[in-house]
Amino acid sequence: MKRLNLKKLVKKFGQYKEVPSHDDEIRFCCPYCVQIGKPPDTKFHLYINLTKGVGYCFRCGKILKFDKNFKIEHSFYIDGISLPKPIKGSSLDKIPESIPVFDSIGYQFLLNKLEKIYSKDYIDKFIQEYEISFCVDKSFPHLYQRIMIPVKVENELVGFQFRAIFGEEPKYYTYNYKSRNMKDYVFNYDRVKNSDEVFLCEGIFDILPFPEKAVACFGKSLTKQQKRLIKNTWQKIYICLDADAIDDAYKLAYDLMKEGIMDIGIVELPEDKDPCEIGKEIYNLPIRYVSIVDFLQENENEFETLL
Ligand SMILES: [Zn+2]
Repeated sequence: MKRLNLKKLVKKFGQYKEVPSHDDEIRFCCPYCVQIGKPPDTKFHLYINLTKGVGYCFRCGKILKFDKNFKIEHSFYIDGISLPKPIKGSSLDKIPESIPVFDSIGYQFLLNKLEKIYSKDYIDKFIQEYEISFCVDKSFPHLYQRIMIPVKVENELVGFQFRAIFGEEPKYYTYNYKSRNMKDYVFNYDRVKNSDEVFLCEGIFDILPFPEKAVACFGKSLTKQQKRLIKNTWQKIYICLDADAIDDAYKLAYDLMKEGIMDIGIVELPEDKDPCEIGKEIYNLPIRYVSIVDFLQENENEFETLL
């Protein structure tokens, strides 16, 4: 019978204990209890059944279900306990307490994910450069034990992103800082603003292969303010969304053309890879240039009504 891979579980949850009465069950200290405001579990309340691929915490009610690739397929609480939902455009008035990511389990998570593609030095440098830390602020239970990335523009803090590391949903929480609005800006603006060209990515970690050239837009579409910022800063634009978002990439290209930017290319990513997983090869990928002919064809109807 197929069993969950114990090594992988230990990597995710740390030390375990056996359950004497059930030889297909083991228990871990539950990392999820803190997310609903309980103190950290020290008494191994998270039971995982190795043959059935499910887990349950007797303390916080978290249920886990693993898929065959060892991702946590379902991850939820019973008893009506649920996490606070992120409100669009919500903001934080104080900077949540955090520790350097190097001193946390978040660091191991990043290494596991990235060390196949990048050197440890490269990852460490990225962490330092972008001041990536690990949230340990218990007054924000849903942000506790998430990787915390500050978003700065012109060296001023405008917001944060918090990434899950235990497979919990949502994967990201995004917050503005005070009255700033992150969607007015792009991540990594300061470092790329003096270049002629820019690669537009969706998520913060997507810029990892090329931080000297790429920014993140926090999504597949742009706000008015972002379009203005891009137009005023760069002449040449490369759109670098995931391969499955090719329609969004074209939409984004046409959107920028309407702003008067004509030098636009779309980077063709291999399927089921996001930019972060490509590494330095990203500069060698084919680029489809978007021509004025494409643009006119796409927007035919709009022009007809103008004539
Ligand atoms: Zn728990």
